Order: sequence, then structure tokens, then C-alpha cells
Amino acid sequence: MTTTEVENFPGFPEGITGPDLMDRMRKQAERWGAELHQEDVEFIDLKNRPFTVKSSERKVNCHSIIYATGATARRLGLPREEEFWCRGISACAICDGASPLFKGQVLAVVGGGDTATEEALYLTKYARHVHLLVRKDHLRASKAMQDRVLNNPNVTVHFNTEALDVVSNNKGQMSGILVRKIDTSEESVLEVKGLFYGIGHSPNSQLLEGQVDLDSTGYVLVQEGSAKTSVEGLFAAGDVQDHEWRQAVTAAGSGCIAALSPVTEEVKKEFTDRDVQEGFDMTITKHKGQYALRKLYHESPRLVCVLYTSPTCGPCRTLKPILSKVIDEFNQHVHLVEIDIEEDPEIAEAAGIMGTPCVQFFKDKEMIRTVSGVKMKKEYREFIEANK
Ligand SMILES: Cc1cc2nc3c(=O)[nH]c(=O)nc-3n(C[C@H](O)[C@H](O)[C@H](O)COP(=O)(O)OP(=O)(O)OC[C@H]3O[C@@H](n4cnc5c(N)ncnc54)[C@H](O)[C@@H]3O)c2cc1C
Repeated sequence: MTTTEVENFPGFPEGITGPDLMDRMRKQAERWGAELHQEDVEFIDLKNRPFTVKSSERKVNCHSIIYATGATARRLGLPREEEFWCRGISACAICDGASPLFKGQVLAVVGGGDTATEEALYLTKYARHVHLLVRKDHLRASKAMQDRVLNNPNVTVHFNTEALDVVSNNKGQMSGILVRKIDTSEESVLEVKGLFYGIGHSPNSQLLEGQVDLDSTGYVLVQEGSAKTSVEGLFAAGDVQDHEWRQAVTAAGSGCIAALSPVTEEVKKEFTDRDVQEGFDMTITKHKGQYALRKLYHESPRLVCVLYTSPTCGPCRTLKPILSKVIDEFNQHVHLVEIDIEEDPEIAEAAGIMGTPCVQFFKDKEMIRTVSGVKMKKEYREFIEANK
């Protein structure tokens, strides 16, 4: 997220900067067990299972991916663009239009399509006046949008006009834009306090090209109301699959849908088949299914931690990485066995499981503790430490 001020994310009545919001989200994810690696992914293979994700630092095999690489706003590349990005130039009227920097000011929008006309009309809610700069001698926007923009007294449309650069006052603030008439080459300064780009976005979907269904402009296609793509196990969230709303809160919402989406039967079956084919190895710490539980319960001297989950249970997805990380700390002293209560209902019934997620600890063939719901890492850690 490159924006400076975010005024519309729920829970921050005073607003928050984009980097601070990211920082908080990162810390929150880490607190609940996520491992973050800040590196560029260079290659994704969806054709073979498990999937492969490769960066310059590592290669990861996985059964499911949430793809959330965002979309990049197209820029004009004006000479002083970097200097005024987020300080006068913006690519998002909905996000920035109401900010004090632009409220009550004269503003300009660049572009001639639906995005630009929508942005110009939206900005009239807050701006004193809006200039729409169109390179061609006509608008590309739909007829309805053209009518609305051309008939709005608060919008002036400048055809055959291109922006050349930003002009600043002696305080270093944007005071106008240098524009040129394409038909006459005449240059002049248009006095505005803000410049909005309405020239489109490019979704960052290059890594998926040829492997998953994209729309004609490169956005990842997802099933309506879900994060599922045309490839089972690949979910898409945020701006890379959303050309309409493009807000932090909608991106977070679709990320949540992706994270809670159940893993398909096919993918689950792959896990199970592989477990059976590869035989049972008691020296391995993490297992799945009732066979492993029975073996470990009867034969292992280690503390056995059983995690009961169900496919549609969101908190189970939250708990899995948390518990997995704690178990890693006690490798060789404990086993983790995941029991899907839909796959192994008789085990769940025998254990008296009333809801998921639920964790039970067994030692020497005795159940020594039940922990329902999602708890902080500390709670699991302390119990294992005391009973390993
Ligand atoms: C100027 C501006 C102002 C905005 N202001 C607001 C606002 O006030 N309120 C609001 O709600 N929204 C605002 N938005 C929109 C908001 O930023 C987006 O909707 C939101 O960030 C989308 O989230 P995302 O996770 O889909 O993508 P992003 O936030 O763009 O995150 C995508 C991430 O993926 C990473 N990535 C991409 N490719 C790779 C790769 N190959 N390997 C590894 N990582 C990769 C990127 O580095 C980035 O960190 C603004 C946008 C702009 C441009």
C-alpha cells in the first residue's frame, strides 16, 4: 500500500498512514503465528501439485495459494511526479478526494474513459471545481458518463490537452500543472491544487499468465462472492481480482474470504493418499488422521497433542499455524495429530468433541487436558513445557 493517509479504514477514526496500517497488520499476523518473508516471488507453477512458489531466496511447495499482489495505477511519468506523489498527485479519488489537501480546492483529472469521468464527478463532491484533461478530441467513456460530465457545471472538459509537469509555489506545494494543447502546441499553466490520474490500473497478475483464467485486462477471475479461481487451491484476493472497488477494506475483506475458503476434497485427498502411501513413521512430529492417532496413542512415549478441526471452521485455520509453530519449538518431545471431525467422526465422538477447533493432550494413554477454541501461543507452550 503506497498511500500516505488512509482516512476510511474502519477502526481508525483519526485516520492512519498506509505504512502504519501495514505495520500493524504485519504485527497482528505474526502474533497469531504467520511467518513473513519479505521477498519478490519470481515464479509460480500451478500446473503440478503440490504448487511451487519460487523467490530469489527460497522455493516453497504448497497445496494452496492466496494470490494478492495488487494492481499498479498507471502513471503519466511527469518529470516531478515522484516529488508530488501523494502530495498533490493521486491515483485514487475515492481514497483521497475528501482529504484536507484537496477539499474545497480546484483540481484536475487526467483521462478520457469511464475511470476518469467517474473520478471527476466524484471529486465535485469535495472540490470547488474540477478540470478534466483529455488528450483526444472526444471522451472514450460511456454515453451516460459523457452526458453527466459534460452537463456538470462544476466540471470543465479540456479536449486535446495533455499534462506536461507539475508547477509549485515558493513553499514547494503544488500550485498548478503545465499543460499543452495538442492541436496548437500552445502551453499554459492551469492553476490546480491536485492532479488525479484516471488512466487505469494494471493488475499484477503476470506470474499467473497462461495458468489461470484472467479477464481481458489481466484481472484474475474469481467466482462471484468467493475467492476461488479457475484453479483449485488458488485463491485471489484484493486489487488483483477487483477492478471495481479497489479499497483497503474490500481487499482485506476478500483476503478474509480467501483465508476461510475450505480446502477442496481433492486437495485433502491428496494429503491422505500420500500419508498412506508413504507409510507411517513414528519419528515424524506432525501427523494427520485416525490411523496416526491410534499408533501414537498406543506406541509413542511422547506427549500427543490432537487438534480437532472441521473443513468449514474459520478459527481452525487460524489455530493451525499457531499450534504448528509451538509444536516446532518442542520437536522430538511432542507429536501433533490433526483430526478432521468430518473424516473421522467416530474418533471425535469417542473424544467427546462438541465443537472445533479443540485441542486435547494425551500422555501415557491418558487424556490430560482439553483446550477449546483459539488461545494464545503462550497457553499451549506453557502446558507442553510442563508436561513434555
Ligand atoms: C494513491 C492511492 C491512495 C489510496 N488511498 C486509499 C485509502 O485512503 N483508503 C483505501 O481504502 N484504499 C486506498 N487505496 C487503495 C488501496 O491501497 C488498495 O485497494 C489496497 O492496498 C489493495 O490491497 P492489496 O493487498 O490487494 O494490494 P497492495 O496493497 O497493492 O499489496 C500488494 C502487495 O503484493 C506485493 N507484490 C506484488 N508482486 C509481488 C511479487 N511478485 N512478489 C512478492 N510480492 C509482490 C506488493 O509489493 C504489495 O506489497 C489507495 C491507492 C492508491 C494508489
